[in-house]
Amino acid sequence: MRSATRCVHLRDDADPHAASVPPLYQTATFRQPGAAEAGEFDYSRTDNPTRRLLETQLAGLEGGRHAFAYGSGMAALAALLRLVEPGGEILAGDDLYGGTTRWLARVAPLCGVAVRHLDATDPERVAAAIGRRTRLLLVETPSNPRLRIAPLAALAAVARRRGVRLAVDNSLLSPLLQRPLALGADLVVHSATKILGGHGDLTAGVVVVDDEVLAERLAFHRNAEGAALAPFEAWLLLRGLKTLALRVEQQGRSAALLAHHLAADPRVRRVWFPELPGHPGRELHAAQAAGPGPLLAFETGDPELSRRLVDGLRLFAVAVSFGSVASAATLPFRLSHAAVPEPLRDRLAPPPDLVRLAVGLEDPRDLIEDLEQAWAGATASRTLAAGGER
Ligand code: PLP
Repeated sequence: MRSATRCVHLRDDADPHAASVPPLYQTATFRQPGAAEAGEFDYSRTDNPTRRLLETQLAGLEGGRHAFAYGSGMAALAALLRLVEPGGEILAGDDLYGGTTRWLARVAPLCGVAVRHLDATDPERVAAAIGRRTRLLLVETPSNPRLRIAPLAALAAVARRRGVRLAVDNSLLSPLLQRPLALGADLVVHSATKILGGHGDLTAGVVVVDDEVLAERLAFHRNAEGAALAPFEAWLLLRGLKTLALRVEQQGRSAALLAHHLAADPRVRRVWFPELPGHPGRELHAAQAAGPGPLLAFETGDPELSRRLVDGLRLFAVAVSFGSVASAATLPFRLSHAAVPEPLRDRLAPPPDLVRLAVGLEDPRDLIEDLEQAWAGATASRTLAAGGER
């Protein structure tokens, strides 16, 4: 089955009553066959039919044998820390979601795990940085928010040679556009809150692996620590997944239209979008991904102008997150990446004038018109302010 077909066709034998749409097993416990006999399910923290069906879907889409659904993307990322023993080290990219940077800076050390950030777009630099204690390499590609491209196959080869696991946060593309396991990664992580859920009505995370040993460790820790996704969210996510192929295609197409529109605008200093000519890693992205995701970012050169522009948008909500049916805009420096801890802000936080657009399913012509009216307002108030100063 191709991915779009798989998205709408769940396993046929999923429900004993042959319901066409999988039922929601909104239950904490399952009655056991006898006092000394265990049934297939016993407690939803450990396993639940709705969540298991979701995990079968997600594993199939990512091309791994095992998927684990968590209560959020951060809970999924936190599960990776359990794979690194105290005294070990994580190497991580230097353009990551701000919450990921915060978790690495403030939680990993509590577990005795050291963290170093580096430019993950350069496999030679990564090879040189891997040390005796390095256990895990964590990258986003494209990264959030500057959409930098990491060479997954080259990184996987480097990591494998040195006995290091490669984990890829695939939240920005979804498995319909990029399948890191096929390129040699060991673990794929998602904030399923984003494109996989697609409707902005749930938080969820997922880790997908093919390796049995990793799967066993993830299953153990998730049950022991209780981070599993609740059944209702699993059911909602299953519903969202059915339209994944359509959403990804349309959002990517609209994002490309907006990116080209902005790239032609003299008021814009720089646009970050993997399909634009001149974007670093553009050819690499084209080779390892089947298209662009819903995110683009641009710089105006003036943080105050960027703020006025975002405040002036009417269709784009000022909201963190991305991948939902409705478009959103942020200044990552102020919102999604405000969590980057102070000592790392200079190096790892995005520039303060960077505007990130998360493109939804609106008609892209309406989105472009919205941008234009916001520009008009933002530049008019700049002219007024400048006049006032004089
Ligand atoms: N990874 C990326 C790339 C993200 O953008 C986010 C959230 O914005 C996360 C992980 C964290 O996911 P969640 O917000 O579902 O915990």
